[in-house]
Amino acid sequence: MKSLDTFPRLSLGLFPTPIHRLDNISAMLGANVYIKRDDLTGLGLGGNKTRKLEFLLADAKQKGAELVFTTGGAQSNHAMLTAAAAGRLGMRCILILKKRGVTECLGNQLLEKLMGTDVRFVDTDDYADIYEEMDRVGKASGVPYYKIPCGGSNALGALGYVDCAREIAAQGMRFDHLICAEGSGGTMAGLALGAKLFLPGTKVYGMMVDTDPFDEITPALMREAAALLDADVEITNDDFSLRDMCGPGYAIASEAGNAAVRLMAEKEGIFLDPVYTGKAFAGLVEMAREGAFRPEDRVLFLHSGGAGGLFAIE
Ligand SMILES: *Cc1c(COP(=O)(O)O)cnc(C)c1O
Repeated sequence: MKSLDTFPRLSLGLFPTPIHRLDNISAMLGANVYIKRDDLTGLGLGGNKTRKLEFLLADAKQKGAELVFTTGGAQSNHAMLTAAAAGRLGMRCILILKKRGVTECLGNQLLEKLMGTDVRFVDTDDYADIYEEMDRVGKASGVPYYKIPCGGSNALGALGYVDCAREIAAQGMRFDHLICAEGSGGTMAGLALGAKLFLPGTKVYGMMVDTDPFDEITPALMREAAALLDADVEITNDDFSLRDMCGPGYAIASEAGNAAVRLMAEKEGIFLDPVYTGKAFAGLVEMAREGAFRPEDRVLFLHSGGAGGLFAIE
């Protein structure tokens, strides 16, 4: 297997992110709940996309790109962080977003305005239309360009979360359960593969906040990332668990998710978000109530960021 350190990588974030116990919530749920603070990754308002972008933008630079494109919904945290990273690297960035969700100057749209980001919308439900538009705009620009997929969720981006699993192992604590939100799949696939490689005995759970077929997407991405690493591992659907926490729809707040946002704010002074981490933490609370954790188990929740959404989505 190749070392992760052999891949080109830019330093965009502040790592390792802290891990600490949530004492009040642990007492309330009768479980040992810890949190991995990827809301404190250092770029923008923090979040998981920084780990992926360290690999993706290094690849873009190495290939000579001067212009980067990415996409997502109107309130995409990934798009906002890509613009923030590109600005720091002195690269041009154009966001071509789906005209879905809150397009007003709120949340991530406001942050993009502050950065002077070139944001464009396409009225479509199909990302294929967006990637086509990127090629049209990219060719017309006359400079070498690089397309980052929605959520940065390809095999190279997922390496950011394989590395996060390695980072958790190096932090010296052992966990029985590792829980994260799953939106486009790269984070979960990276963690599930990373756990196989670096965190034996840790079970990984993806809390689905969208309706895509993650039972297919997750192992496919895991296999692609394993191939990049030349890792000799067999991936099956037993390597992870999924739970549907989407509620009324992607980027539409759910009652359970909002209750989890309030719980974390009141008990721990930490802000989750309504689109991803609130729904994911609601899944953790449900699992605790169902008796999924033994009292001696240690549960690690990945706080993947998303603060911008708090100011745009109710
Ligand atoms: C994108 C995102 C996720 C989901 O990660 P994926 O790799 O897209 O599945 C989770 N939390 C936040 C805050 C995000 O922005």
